Amino acid sequence: MKRRSILKGLTLAPLVIGASSIKSIAATASVNENNLLNELGVRTFINAAGTLTYMSGSLMHPEVVKTIKDSSTHFCMMDELQDKVGENIAAMVHSEAATVTSGAFSAMTLGLAGILTGNDLKKVEQLPHLAGTGMKSEVICQKSHDERYNHAFLNTGCTIVTVETLEELEKAINEKTAMLHFLNIAADKGKINHADWLAVGKKYKIPVSIDIAADVPPVSNIWKFNDMGFDLVFLSGGKAIRGPQSAGLLMGRKNIIEAARLSAPPRGFNVGRAHKVNKEEILGMYVALKKYIATDHEKEWSQWESEINFIENEVKNIKGISTKIVIPTLGNITPNLIINWNPTHINLTGKDLREALRNGNPSIEAGFAGLPLYPNQAGSESIDPTIAATLKGENRVTITVWMLQQGEYKIVGKKLKEAFNNALV
Ligand SMILES: *Cc1c(COP(=O)(O)O)cnc(C)c1O
Repeated sequence: MKRRSILKGLTLAPLVIGASSIKSIAATASVNENNLLNELGVRTFINAAGTLTYMSGSLMHPEVVKTIKDSSTHFCMMDELQDKVGENIAAMVHSEAATVTSGAFSAMTLGLAGILTGNDLKKVEQLPHLAGTGMKSEVICQKSHDERYNHAFLNTGCTIVTVETLEELEKAINEKTAMLHFLNIAADKGKINHADWLAVGKKYKIPVSIDIAADVPPVSNIWKFNDMGFDLVFLSGGKAIRGPQSAGLLMGRKNIIEAARLSAPPRGFNVGRAHKVNKEEILGMYVALKKYIATDHEKEWSQWESEINFIENEVKNIKGISTKIVIPTLGNITPNLIINWNPTHINLTGKDLREALRNGNPSIEAGFAGLPLYPNQAGSESIDPTIAATLKGENRVTITVWMLQQGEYKIVGKKLKEAFNNALV
């Protein structure tokens, strides 16, 4: 349902790239003339919105692409590859073990599957039918941490039990409790913090997991939660790390990850068979992680700041406009330029502006009218009609620069300025 409405939203997006405009777009860094996307008539755009799955996430590092290409001409044994890559990644992220999954969502399903089944192959075959098998069947999380990605846990047959206080947590724990789950992006929304959540897990000997899918940068988050003692940590590979969009990492306890792999390809006949990751993606994920850890993050941050300042300066003196640069404290931590305007001076809604940028040449995707804390929220104009309705008529857009390619910030600044000047009352 949700997916269908996203697709619908996308197919309805105007496609206005004619032959002559292709040539001028080709002059920018984001499109090249022989691109199959252009040939098929698929719109490409400058991404000033962020790392959103429905906008194809992030662009892989050239080294990742090279790795994919170079490894594509050889065969290898998939288990051997996962063993070796997993060992190397585990050392980089300070965990006992690690394995490459098809995204953080897959890591969530497979990690929980490992807890439920252990090394019992019969149980692996029985998932997701838990009744009468002796397997546990409940995951506990805080109410404010029960967001849509937790559907990954339901795929194992488990149900989710929500609590709000430490007292409720201890009361909710019973012989069916498989795992205690924490959503890092919502750390400031729940009453129970990381350390207390972990301590309860230790006290009752129940594995504790954490979803940090979109919480890099800072780079230290890659190892921070393994160091804290979380038994399972779920991370996306195709967001800021710029690995394959379809890859992610499951990190944590050796025995759980070994068991999780029993529910994952290359083995078939299990809940994870659909979570296939090819050898090129496994290697691509590994190289992306290495590359990300080795990045000069301070330099990258000052680059983002100077680009976002440039865009802000292009528009901030236009009559009726006010701007603000905000850095979210949790999730997608990157500078966000929030542009607000007074409709008595500028005759545009946020939706109008995003559409104008989308229909421009080159096409640009700007962020949603609030802070894009959740990737799925950022797509809410085409995902959730209730949220979309509340945004109607709001005179705001959000711009991020972390997914821009070289020099594109200048185009974004110029196009924003043009759109506002065209709408001056
Ligand atoms: C993106 C995201 C996921 C899913 O990650 P994928 O790598 O796309 O599978 C899960 N949880 C949160 C909080 C996310 O932001």
